[in-house]
Amino acid sequence: MNERPKILTFKMPAEASPLGYRQKPARPLLEVDRLRKTFPHAGPKATLAAVERVSLSLGEGELMALLGPSGCGKTTTLRMIGGFETPDEGRITLAGRDITHLPPEARGIGFVFQDYALFPHLDVLENVRFGLRHMPRAQAEARAGEMLALVGLQGLERRRPHQLSGGQQQRVALARSLAVAPRVILLDEPFSNLDAKMRVETRQEVRKLLKSTGAAGILVTHDQEEALALADRIAVMEGGRVVQIGTPDEIYRNPATEFVANFIGRSNILSGTASGMEAKTAFGNLPLSRAANGAVSLAVRPEQILLEPDPAGTASIVGREFRGHDQIYWVQEGERCMIVISGPGAQHPIGSRVRLRICDCVVPLT
Ligand code: ATP
Repeated sequence: MNERPKILTFKMPAEASPLGYRQKPARPLLEVDRLRKTFPHAGPKATLAAVERVSLSLGEGELMALLGPSGCGKTTTLRMIGGFETPDEGRITLAGRDITHLPPEARGIGFVFQDYALFPHLDVLENVRFGLRHMPRAQAEARAGEMLALVGLQGLERRRPHQLSGGQQQRVALARSLAVAPRVILLDEPFSNLDAKMRVETRQEVRKLLKSTGAAGILVTHDQEEALALADRIAVMEGGRVVQIGTPDEIYRNPATEFVANFIGRSNILSGTASGMEAKTAFGNLPLSRAANGAVSLAVRPEQILLEPDPAGTASIVGREFRGHDQIYWVQEGERCMIVISGPGAQHPIGSRVRLRICDCVVPLT
């Protein structure tokens, strides 16, 4: 094969615009239907399932984040999709084919493990070529070279994994998974071994890379910022269940529950009495982002609150954190402490009297 590998580095073609659908893509590629998993030797809480009736749909080329706190069942869900764990109940289909009980290598799904799982005794090229053993050697080498060019690692083919940085090892793992042209790639906390700056750089590179190959991806993370920055849609998990699925924008602006409102960004929780698209609260009548009735808890983002100096005000600043691009204030009014984010220009010393106004729709929680 004389054709030179296509040299595509991370400065790559503009990606497709994020997918605009909500719960379900129009043509799902991967469907996960009510997966359940218990671990028989999991200790006193063994009766609780690690994963409970988890359902998801992933579209062609879509990137989804499974987001949630430690122990909520993200990795177990991913491992069931990858074929490394057998579900007690439920079904997984890929392009209409039931793959629930197929071994990992027969699924057409790639997996990038948290520790990358590179073979230490093989060099970079051999690691990437590993999954291509069924191909003639020359063809496999050409394909591996093409994948290394794609992830920007040309020239490092003969290094062993220990001679690479964490970010480079991760790209080798990605190249190895992509070499077999999977339709879906699963990534388990892929940035956890990188330092903060590398994480931010690498996540955009990985997103562009997946978009350029057309592979769909599911990424496990407990980092909300990472999920918001990277994913087309986020599935938020809590206690083994998916509690909300939506675009980053939908999840941030319209969290379904108090848990989501506080796990993704920060929220103030107010109580109120709702009547349709409005609720009566301590801050007056406020418009709602969706209809509700009766006693409700309401989520208000810190940036939705206006903070104005007012010597006669009943609220006062009790804490302040300067963050460069903005400032966080903690404002006490009677029993209630609100968190407010203001621009970098406003200066409200601790102890000063202020007035708070809510200047946007608030979200009724379930
Ligand atoms: P983390 O972010 O910490 O990796 P997670 O959300 O990925 O957490 P899982 O690893 O899926 O969570 O674990 C979910 C639950 O299942 C946890 O309570 C965990 O202790 C339990 N669990 C996972 N694997 C096993 C196993 N092999 N045997 C027994 N219990 C397990």
